Amino acid sequence: MKPKSADILVINGTLLTLDANHTEIVDGAVAISQDTITAVGSANGFSDWSAARVVDAGGGIIMPGLINTHTHAAMTCFRGLADDLQLMNWLNNHIFPAEAKLNDQKVYQGTLLACAEMIMSGTTCFCDMYLFEDAVARAARDAGMRAVVGEVLYDFDSPNYGPIEKGFEYTQKLIDAWRADPLVTIAVEPHSTYLCAPELLKKAFQLTQSLRLPLVIHLAESKSEVDQIKERYGRTPVEHLAELGILAPNVLACHCVELTENDIHLLQRFDVKVAHNAESNMKLASGVAPIPELLDKGICVGLGTDGCASNNNLDLFLEMDTVAKLHKARTLDPTTMDALSVLKMATIQAARALGLDHLIGSLEAGKKADLIIIDTNKPHLTPMYSPVSHLVYAAMGSDVATTIINGRVVMENGSLNTMDLRKVMDDVNQIAKELKST
Ligand SMILES: [Zn+2]
Repeated sequence: MKPKSADILVINGTLLTLDANHTEIVDGAVAISQDTITAVGSANGFSDWSAARVVDAGGGIIMPGLINTHTHAAMTCFRGLADDLQLMNWLNNHIFPAEAKLNDQKVYQGTLLACAEMIMSGTTCFCDMYLFEDAVARAARDAGMRAVVGEVLYDFDSPNYGPIEKGFEYTQKLIDAWRADPLVTIAVEPHSTYLCAPELLKKAFQLTQSLRLPLVIHLAESKSEVDQIKERYGRTPVEHLAELGILAPNVLACHCVELTENDIHLLQRFDVKVAHNAESNMKLASGVAPIPELLDKGICVGLGTDGCASNNNLDLFLEMDTVAKLHKARTLDPTTMDALSVLKMATIQAARALGLDHLIGSLEAGKKADLIIIDTNKPHLTPMYSPVSHLVYAAMGSDVATTIINGRVVMENGSLNTMDLRKVMDDVNQIAKELKST
């Protein structure tokens, strides 16, 4: 047989594929050509392969990159600006005034910092909602990250586009500009049922249907939101979307903390996807989303960190640990949210939530080459009976040694190849200085 060749051959690690059979190979290897995984298997099957580049995992874990289903990336600029406050006080007196000072350049710089943090903690794809999203798309592209991005739409004027008609124009421009991009997917993103009138929601949904795009929305995040929507429309936020005819498989509902049984039934019936943001919900005291109940019904749930002002980091390893433990404490059942289920929510289920599971979320031939290597040669990861257990309960983002996205090595041995990290941090420190002085 003729030797096979690859651009990159990743070897010498325990391989977790996260495929349908959860294939785990003790001494595994992954072959990559251009942006695609061409072969996955046991290392001895690759002995006759030649590769332009061999990446040695050093006996660590080789796995799919993590996927963050809900971010406001540029909020890295506000990390630690205001903590431990009531939601409305936090929003009205701290976050909204700070956001009013943002512009395209600041959002670009804040997002680059977010990308640095995400790549360095093993996240290879994120789904973002914010202002000035063209800057977010450019930052993701420049950082070499995969991203789903959409401009936040709401009834009042935006610091970016002004009135809502312009918001739809801006969204259309994003769609046109990024249509052929290998890393960036555009979504339509109405903020929520409480900041968006029914007409806006319907128009946003129509746009997604005609162009087959994801629709991302905050939904049932807190009790006060549910009370407000009930008072306004006489139904829950989920029932409200059902009534407007905009529950569908391409809808990603972020948070879903306050749900009735009927709400859960509707999410299941319309195959709506859910982004679970446990740490943000805890920090803002919104409550605990009934995730085990959603999983029981077969609803697809991906993990998210939410923005940096309500978390205050973008580390999905820490998020997985929190999620696995939080639901055990809530249900008093230590068998709920087992480590593998949680790991899937940060990989293959997150990919499904974004409509990207045909491309990413597992390591399989034909999928895009988004993978990470975990350095397990650390005291807190010794010994290792189960890689899955370690990834959820013991590992941290800082254990990620190498990150490959779309076949490109964006970080190796802890250092970023796609940006000057010192400059990226200096730029955001400068933004923080300006924010403090005004
Ligand atoms: Zn959010």
